[in-house]
Amino acid sequence: MSIRIDGKQIAAEVKKRVRLGVEDLNRQGISVGLAVILVGDDPASQIYVANKKKACAALGIVSEEYALPAETSQAELLRLIDELNQKPHINGILCQLPLPPHLNEKEVINAISPQKDVDAFHPHNVGRIMIGDYDFVPCTPAGIMEMLAHKNISVEGKQCVVIGRSNIVGKPMAMLLLHQNGTVTVCHSRTRNLAEICRTADILVAAVGKANFVTADMVKDGAVVIDVGMNRANGKLCGDVAFDEVEKKASAITPVPGGVGPMTIAMLMQNTLTAARRQAGILS
Ligand code: NAP
Repeated sequence: MSIRIDGKQIAAEVKKRVRLGVEDLNRQGISVGLAVILVGDDPASQIYVANKKKACAALGIVSEEYALPAETSQAELLRLIDELNQKPHINGILCQLPLPPHLNEKEVINAISPQKDVDAFHPHNVGRIMIGDYDFVPCTPAGIMEMLAHKNISVEGKQCVVIGRSNIVGKPMAMLLLHQNGTVTVCHSRTRNLAEICRTADILVAAVGKANFVTADMVKDGAVVIDVGMNRANGKLCGDVAFDEVEKKASAITPVPGGVGPMTIAMLMQNTLTAARRQAGILS
């Protein structure tokens, strides 16, 4: 029988820790502020932004939303980011992705001050993750590491397989597992013998974006299975893992919904607190 890793509960604990940290800064006369930029009217992005604002409000983080029309030019967006980079009361800046196709995402990411880059997408922060000396980690992999730690699941010496090599999930996930002394294999769409490689995993992370992609025959008995996927199948939210069949083989598994998703926002809040502490000269 496997353990279901309850992301909602662990996220609530992370958020409580963040709230206490924010209150502590407030007592010292320091506020914590997050600017969230949304360009266009993508419904999924609107929901993500609303959830982030709600989380900020609950934790005492002041959020400022900049909802820009879809036709916003690159220059206008860069100007706004530059203004936010200068504002002392804004500690973190997040530009909700994806951007409309006429905008240059890479240039936008590069324009955010690395000290305020709470998504950890800026090449400066990506490089720091690579060398294992970082303040910010992309929120989803950070949330997964937090879940593993919370459940006392050690990574050291384990075979870790990450399916997916995106810059926001797969690659940083692999680095974090490596920093904790896992033996890491990263798989992608050109990987040969994917099922065979997955069966070697003590810890299997699926970040593919395809419903029911990981089936029971790809999972070793007793593996820890982390499902990052957020897909819609028959109108229902589901992950990348065929949950019912894989749950029977795994020692621990994250459900969708209620697994990795809630952790992502909690870690964004934590990164925002870290940014505020660093900018106030408080090291922790
Ligand atoms: P992405 O950029 O589309 O990357 C998907 C990765 O899966 C790519 O590296 C791709 O390989 C690989 N892949 C696709 N088909 C494959 C196949 N048949 N065999 C092996 N690998 C395959 O997606 P992402 O941004 O990393 O997100 C992945 C999933 O996580 C999505 O469902 C997304 O919605 C979800 N997500 C959830 C959260 C959360 O908070 N829960 C946060 C972020 C993302 P190539 O590189 O070769 O194309």
